[in-house]
Amino acid sequence: MLGCDNTVIETVDWQQLDAGDGTGPRLTVVARVRPRSRQAGRCGICRRKRPGYDPGQGRRLWRALDLGPVTAWLEADAPRVSCPEHGVVVAAVPWARHGAGHTRFFDDQVAWLAAVCSKTTITQLMRISWRTVGHIIARVTAEQLAAIDPLTGLRRIGIDEISYKRGHKYLVVVVDHDSGKLVWAAPGRDTATMNAFFDQLGPERAAQLTHVSADGADWIAGAVRERAPQAVLCADPFHVVSWATDALDEVRREAWRQARAGGQVTSRRSGSRTVRISTDSARGLKRARYALWKNPENLTGAQQAKLAWIHKTQPLLSRAWLLKEGLRTALKLGGEEGKYGLARWLSWAARCRIPEFVELGRKVRRHLESIHATLDHHLSNGLVESVNTKIRVITRMAFGFRNPAALIPLAMLALGGLRPALPGR
Ligand SMILES: [Zn+2]
Repeated sequence: MLGCDNTVIETVDWQQLDAGDGTGPRLTVVARVRPRSRQAGRCGICRRKRPGYDPGQGRRLWRALDLGPVTAWLEADAPRVSCPEHGVVVAAVPWARHGAGHTRFFDDQVAWLAAVCSKTTITQLMRISWRTVGHIIARVTAEQLAAIDPLTGLRRIGIDEISYKRGHKYLVVVVDHDSGKLVWAAPGRDTATMNAFFDQLGPERAAQLTHVSADGADWIAGAVRERAPQAVLCADPFHVVSWATDALDEVRREAWRQARAGGQVTSRRSGSRTVRISTDSARGLKRARYALWKNPENLTGAQQAKLAWIHKTQPLLSRAWLLKEGLRTALKLGGEEGKYGLARWLSWAARCRIPEFVELGRKVRRHLESIHATLDHHLSNGLVESVNTKIRVITRMAFGFRNPAALIPLAMLALGGLRPALPGR
């Protein structure tokens, strides 16, 4: 029940104990334990048998999983040993990770929950602070990463930058196209960050890469060409479509500005009817954002109506929307069909007379080689896109951590396949 193997349980008692969670002293189960002799006197880091050094700071407590509604703790000595490699360290205990204040089972359950539950659910259910959750996740992830190397066997990867902290800070994330898992993440958005990835990957595994998809940033492309020259650089279709979405949003904002300015001008003159129409369309355009952004198959009824209204009343914006959808369709088709579609799209964009899309056409042309590579290799973009979306959710969740570095372990845990099994399963 307490989740401790290789452990001798000396006594089990009831005791009034303040868990430090602000609820004051509470009746809890306290089990006094010690490691079996074969497990005792081991270095907390390398777990090798080492000579004892001193009794350390005496008795210590570890929080165990609750027993029904009652909290439970383990109490034991925490002597120190002298390790020739790691110096004087607290001896390993079989029921908890090194340096942890919670049992291994407790850590595992929190890590398991962190990958699937909201912050409030975890902190209330487990009766711990969000900060403690951050420490536990870091501990569990570090242990998992020491056991499994997620960079093994990579062939086709996607590299992406994600902003957190309201666009001021960035993470570079690397996703495996074949497994859909997040395999690497680090703060930064420059060549140095890319080099850190390739350093960890090593030249042998870098030579195994066949395809790298990226968002078109030069610092990614440059590093890939230098460190994995054999890999085909592909444009991430998700990003190409997002360029089109950005251009479309520019057009919408311009239309909205004009509608609003039109309203103000006529109000100064007289015609009250014109004023109403203009402000109506300004308001309508302001709310049209999602109808324009979303893929048409995902639109709600109201958004469909909004889109129909745009097609009837806003010819320029309607054309811009069609251009965005045209590009998305070409990228979705892939292969020769996609390339043909893209060629048609480029000539359409060149003469569409919407400056934002003329510019977009030029940008697509500049990246045509890597976009063609994507179409040739049918590089699935769905997985990367979904990892991308999930990381954004995790980013919001991780805001509560005092240390933003906790974001990476949380992302690796939830999206990198590092989630531990539930205790006892
Ligand atoms: Zn050691």
